[in-house]
Amino acid sequence: MSKQYEMVIGLEVHVELATKTKIFCGCPTEFGKEPNTHVCPVCTGMPGALPVLNRSVVDYALALGAATHCLVNKLCRFDRKNYFYPDNPQNYQISQLYLPICHDGWVEIDGAAGRRRIRIHEMHMEEDAGKLVHDAWEDSSLVDFNRSGVPLIEIVSEPDLRDASEVIAYLEKLRSICRYLGISDCKLQEGSMRADVNLSVRELGSKTLGVRTEMKNLNSFKAITRAIAAERERQIELLEEGKIVLQETRRWDDNKEYSYAMRSKEDARDYRYFPDPDLPPVLIDDEWMGQVHSRQPEMQEQKIGRYLSEYQLPYEDARLITDSRCVAELFEETVKLCGQPKKAANWLTGETTRLLKENGMEAEDICFSPENLAELIQLVEKGELNNQNAKKVFEAMFTQNVKPQAYMEAHGLKTVIDNDLLEKTVAAVLAANPKTVDEYRSGKTKVIGFLVGQVMKQMRGKADPAAVNRQITEQL
Ligand SMILES: [Zn+2]
Repeated sequence: MSKQYEMVIGLEVHVELATKTKIFCGCPTEFGKEPNTHVCPVCTGMPGALPVLNRSVVDYALALGAATHCLVNKLCRFDRKNYFYPDNPQNYQISQLYLPICHDGWVEIDGAAGRRRIRIHEMHMEEDAGKLVHDAWEDSSLVDFNRSGVPLIEIVSEPDLRDASEVIAYLEKLRSICRYLGISDCKLQEGSMRADVNLSVRELGSKTLGVRTEMKNLNSFKAITRAIAAERERQIELLEEGKIVLQETRRWDDNKEYSYAMRSKEDARDYRYFPDPDLPPVLIDDEWMGQVHSRQPEMQEQKIGRYLSEYQLPYEDARLITDSRCVAELFEETVKLCGQPKKAANWLTGETTRLLKENGMEAEDICFSPENLAELIQLVEKGELNNQNAKKVFEAMFTQNVKPQAYMEAHGLKTVIDNDLLEKTVAAVLAANPKTVDEYRSGKTKVIGFLVGQVMKQMRGKADPAAVNRQITEQL
């Protein structure tokens, strides 16, 4: 029998913070500007320039730490991580090694193995490097320092993850938390969230860890899933052949679906870390922590609890809606306007989710207003829109935020509440289908569905199916 293996995965996640200015200077962090326009002596590493810590970066890190149940190092410090690379003008990166701001936290995720708690080893603040541009010239690369000094938080997990579904769930959780806190938009494609995957395999049941590799350059959930599957295969193949897995950093090429070795993995000692002499230690007192806690918004867990009791929503609805703060806010506003929590939840978990997926959009891209969703729900309640036409109106609302009532009227989707017409149509349909009528009368009541369909067709879908059903039963 062939051996069974399991993966042991830990993640290093970098989140780019949405502060207005950089971590150690006053340059703006805005993305997509002309190269080297948001720079100064500090973020280009000029000799003698002195860094000054941006207090917002600490605020954001503390907020994230609080939301992920971390402990805080009330005295934390910055260290220099020494390495040479052309996008790093100082030849060192200011980061944290010895006293990172937060440590020993956790988040809960729902993956293939059900709900599990993933431990966070530590969280530290650091500065981003510049960006090399290779494409435009054949014989040279250029460097853009706009990104140099943009604040990052690195979140290091314990090796608690066991498969790709858990890795994605963990990243989605971190992204959701950061967006709730408003500290980052966490877009993998744009690099405001980056994940390095540390992965090893071992025989199922074994307690010792295998040799791990680190994979970089993973800029979508799909790429992460494919890279994990490929690396698992590669390592198992080596082990089965009696070879060893080398501890190294590998770069994933998503087009070729293949990873290749970049360099042997460095240890912390390779970087010759030492405390940065230009930056004083950061002392976080109770008053500062108090301010952070008082600013903390209602997070997902609290919202779920409230939705269960206040709106009597099923757990799954509450969870789906609160996955993103903007959907939760849309829901709460809609309920305020129409007083129909379950109906609002149905639209947000059903059609909204379907259309987001179909259009490759994220919850943050939703453009329809709570006023319009409330209006749509009321039109259905009043019987002016049947479910089928309500979906058509919703789709228009989803893409263009149209006013439901106006759209319904302009497109002739309003349900006909003309009882005379309904009576006549039903009579005509029954007369035209004597066989089905006989079947119904002999006890095959299921055939009523066919008759309802015929009437709806005659009335061009503008009747209320429930009313049609009632009318047919009456006439039979
Ligand atoms: Zn600067």
